[in-house]
This record gives sequence, structure tokens and C-alpha cells, in this order.
Amino acid sequence: MSDLNKLSLSAARDGLRAKDFTSVDLTEACLSEIESAGALNAFVHNTPEIAREQAKAADARLANGDAPAMCGLPIGIKDLFATKGVPTQAASAILEGFKPEYESTITSKLFDAGAVMLGKLNMDEFAMGSSNETSTYGNAVSPWRRGNEETPLTPGGSSGGSSAAVSADLCLAATGTDTGGSIRQPAAFTGIVGIKPTYGRCSRWGVVAFASSLDQAGPMTKSVRDAAIMLEAMCGHDMKDSTSADLPVPNFEALLTGDIRGKKIGIPKEYRLEGTPDEIVKLWDDGAAMLKDAGAEIVDISLPHTKYALPTYYVIAPAEASSNLARYDGVRYGHRATLAAGDGIDDMYEKTRAEGFGHEVQRRVMVGTYVLSAGYYDAYYNKARKVRTLIKKDFEDAFAAGIDAILTPATPSPAFGLGEVSDSDPVQMYLNDVFTVTVNLAGLPGISVPTGVSASGLPLGLQLIGKPWEEGDLLNIAHSLEAAAGFVSKPEKWW
Ligand code: GLN
Repeated sequence: MSDLNKLSLSAARDGLRAKDFTSVDLTEACLSEIESAGALNAFVHNTPEIAREQAKAADARLANGDAPAMCGLPIGIKDLFATKGVPTQAASAILEGFKPEYESTITSKLFDAGAVMLGKLNMDEFAMGSSNETSTYGNAVSPWRRGNEETPLTPGGSSGGSSAAVSADLCLAATGTDTGGSIRQPAAFTGIVGIKPTYGRCSRWGVVAFASSLDQAGPMTKSVRDAAIMLEAMCGHDMKDSTSADLPVPNFEALLTGDIRGKKIGIPKEYRLEGTPDEIVKLWDDGAAMLKDAGAEIVDISLPHTKYALPTYYVIAPAEASSNLARYDGVRYGHRATLAAGDGIDDMYEKTRAEGFGHEVQRRVMVGTYVLSAGYYDAYYNKARKVRTLIKKDFEDAFAAGIDAILTPATPSPAFGLGEVSDSDPVQMYLNDVFTVTVNLAGLPGISVPTGVSASGLPLGLQLIGKPWEEGDLLNIAHSLEAAAGFVSKPEKWW
């Protein structure tokens, strides 16, 4: 069987169990695809030896009939996850050469579930960005192109390596992380599915921290069914993360009934932003009509504090980042600057951090330090925390009024060209997160589902936002939207 790399997780799982092919076959198909996809710069550390060993072990388990949920399925891992003995740099020069002594809880769980690791995936440095352009490895490139143009496009960010790899079929699925949209935006830009679970669903242990009260990991996959399968393998209580929830993990796949009759879907008026392209507005209306046809009730709702979400996020996220990144001091991890005669310890810190961190990371550390400083703490950080509570309350009120899920666009535009949003205007880049940051601030689950194609032939996604801990219900509604939208486009291979 050829093109095994193009399979979804569920199709590959079923094929493995039916003995149509082996995990070694699947893994080799992905490895050779990765080899010929250097132009996408999606994988930044390949781990073929580990993959081959895991695939062989998976085949043995399959033969014994004791195969766990993801047995033998080859995936990619975002460079933010600590992987034992394998370079883990968070796409930063400051972590050059860092090989963790331990495995993140999520990768351990995936390996326990039988998954095969093909390698580590590109991303924005410390997950700060929306285009994968802040990476020390250079940007990942989207496999998609606008019409006949050759302009290289962003696969989104920060999980841009993950979205590029999954949409180009270099792997069956990938892990991502989402602090303000980094799973959902790249998924929307590349025509794949990405879910950020409820805050606390997935352990953050061993995931390099960006903004700890917002960070969550999740799967990036070729279908909603695949997202259900992989999410189940990733989540669960972890004693090593005090914010991890001690709740049972449902069998998410079993909840994909396709029946959404009577579900109330909220359409928040504050997400109708001026300047949103007509095709995005139309996509949103079409999505609502699809859910209505499937038996859901569409209800206009208001989330009045939405307009404060972006500024609130860009105070809280940098504040937490500046604190989290204080540990990169040239002593404990990775890079240390070469010192001149007479340099003291302060020079060592300054030089190391100036060399090791890229511009965007430096900007965040400075903004964060400023909003946390004694004179400005109340004016910025404390104010942002209060507004965050109001944003969360908007959602709580909507759910208390009977809303089951909320439908919004995932992104304000289709994928843009690399270099088109300039580094000199960071706010322009931050505007990409306008529809997604609210969800992180409120700690809710959110999923991006490919729903349409832009006039230029690029994928467009819609976002569904669910109630806390109701990922099962959310996935089921997403499954219904996916089925109605029937998105089947794939990028034409040029790489
Ligand atoms: N684009 C957002 C940022 O730059 C979100 C990143 C993320 O979710 N990791 O902060």
C-alpha cells in the first residue's frame, strides 16, 4: 500500500489492526516523506532511530493483540515538549544543546499509548508568535500556496511546524500547545483540526513554560475523530502539575455520535469585527447554517468584554513569560555567552540573555517586567487580572443561559505571506489572536475545524468554544460541522 503517510490516525489504527500494513511500513513512509520535505522546515530534529525502535515494539504488541489506543501511529512532537535525551530547544538559541533528562508527561502518555515519535517540530521561539517566524531554526513554510502564486506562506504559529507537517502528510498527527491560539490558528491556516482542551486537562509538566496560567497542550490532526483519539491519550490527572485536574477522562471517540439536535449554539455579536473580510463573515454564517441544518438552535449572544481580551492577554502573557524565562541565565541550561576579561556575573547574565533570546522574546520579557514593576503593577497587571475575570464571567453567563457551545471565526484572515506582517509592527501580528485569546483567558476548550476555502484557495477555519470539561460534547459538535462542511482540499505538492 502506498502513501501510508497520508492516512488519518483512525484509518491507520484500523489498518494496523486489520494487518493491512505494519507500523514499520507506516513509519518508513513518514520518514521518507520528511526526508524530502526539507523545504517546509517543519521537522527540526529527526529521531528516526527512536521511531524505528518504537514501530518495531508496536508491531510486536499488535501481533500479541495487546495494542493500546495509539499503537504504532507515527506523530511529530512540538519542540516545546521535553523529550528525554532528544534536543528540546523551544526553538530558542538560549536552549542550544539542551537534552532533557526526563520525558514530559504528555509525551510519556503518548508513548504509553503506543505512539511513534518521528522527531521534533518547528515553532515560534518559546511559543511567542503567530507565524513561526520567531524561531531560531528559521520559519516553517506552509505547504499551501495562494492560487498559482509562489509566495511562501506562513503555516501559522506558534505551532507552525506541527501544522505544516500534518497538512503536508509528513506525519499522521502532531502535538501542539496553545497559550493564546497557537493550536487553533495554525490549524485554521493549514486546513487541519486543532483542539485546545480546558485548562488543567493536559499536564503541563515537562512542557517549556510560556505563560503558565494560559498554556495548554493539545492534538493537531487530520480529522475531529483523530483529535478525539489523540486527546484521550494525552490528558489525565498528573501529580506533577498542581493545576492538572483530577477528573476522569472520557472515551471521546465514543461521544462522536453526530447527533447535535437541540444543542444551543451561541453567535457572539462582539466577534463581528469591523474590517473582517467578507469571506470570513460568510464562512461564519455558513457554519451557523450547517449546524442549524443538523438540528442545533442558533442563538445570538453577547460577550460584552470581548474587546478587552487582546490587551488583557498581552499584559498577562508577557508578565508570566518574564517570570518563567528568568531561569534562562546561562548557568542552568543551554547557551552561555563568551565573557571578556573583567566581566562579572551581571555581564554574564546580560550577554547570555541578549545573545540567546530573539527580538520577540526580549520584547515580551521587557513588557512583562514593566507591567509587574512596583509602580505599574496595579495599573496594568492587576487591572488585567480583573478584566480577565470579567471575560470569564461573560462565558459563564452565556453557558448558564443554556448555551452549549459558541461558534466564531478561528482567524481574521487566511494565511498570510511570510514577511508580510513586519516585525516593526508587533500589534499587527498580535491581532491574529483576536478570536482565540478569550478562550485561554477563560480556561475553556476551543477547537478549530476546517470549514471552507478562501477566494485565493486557502483553507479557512471556524472555532467552536465549549463548556469547561465538556470536550466530548465540543468534539461531537465539531464532528457534525466537519461532516457538513466536507472540507477535503489538500495542498498541491511543490516541495
Ligand atoms: N500568538 C500568541 C502569542 O504570540 C499566542 C501564542 C501561543 O498560543 N503560544 O502570544
